[in-house]
Amino acid sequence: MKLLCFNPHNDDTIIGAGGTVIKLLRKGWKIGYVYITDGRYGSDILTPEETEKIRAEEAKKERKILGIENFWNMEIEDGTLEKLSAGEIESLEKKILTIISDFSPDFILIPSLSELHPDHRSTHNIVYNLVKSNKLEIPVLKYLVWSLPDFFKKNYDLAEKAIIVNIDKEFEDKIKILKLHSSQDSEGRYTKIVYHFNSYISLVFKTYKNLDFDKSEIIGIFNLLEKNKVSLENLLKDLENPTDVTIMFHGRQEKKIKAQLGDDFG
Ligand SMILES: [Zn+2]
Repeated sequence: MKLLCFNPHNDDTIIGAGGTVIKLLRKGWKIGYVYITDGRYGSDILTPEETEKIRAEEAKKERKILGIENFWNMEIEDGTLEKLSAGEIESLEKKILTIISDFSPDFILIPSLSELHPDHRSTHNIVYNLVKSNKLEIPVLKYLVWSLPDFFKKNYDLAEKAIIVNIDKEFEDKIKILKLHSSQDSEGRYTKIVYHFNSYISLVFKTYKNLDFDKSEIIGIFNLLEKNKVSLENLLKDLENPTDVTIMFHGRQEKKIKAQLGDDFG
């Protein structure tokens, strides 16, 4: 099985879905990384040129430790994705379509539309629109980097299926890899954020389900078709039966919320 992961910046997948990716790698999945921007503005101390170079080295260390051989750099200037011209978007789309066609993934992983960073939202829109407009029959998984876990209902990024993946076993390695991005993890801040965020996701859903794990990631599943049934079964099996939270909102059952809020929240 193959998963193609889209990184607006080269540490996004490990932050948002690192435990999930590690789990799949250990089950023999082949993972590919597409890096959209060059990440050059990710430091207040270093120059953009130094930052870009250092971040590329950090990403290389991550791929080495994970054993990821397939990767592609789109080299868009950090922070400019939503301002690209129509021609630039078209050329980026062409490159991405070629990658999808060559790598032939069973699933594609992108950031959620609920993300606040414009590069994350633009990455979502470019890839998701490509999948839809080309009628690609590949299910799309969405991850969160900085948003809260009930995003699927709040910001109209309505998942066909939402799952939380128990990453207790993978968490230590996830943090180890995150630390390789040392230019981003200054004073261990990202490590701490991830520690609390992955705990928080579990805690949110503990209000409804009696979950026996501490660290988890939430993944939304989109573009599911009847023909993807077997791939989906394989994914869920290899993620060791993640908890289905599709009908939950703030860890509570959706219908109660619906009754309070009316139809606006879908
Ligand atoms: Zn990012």
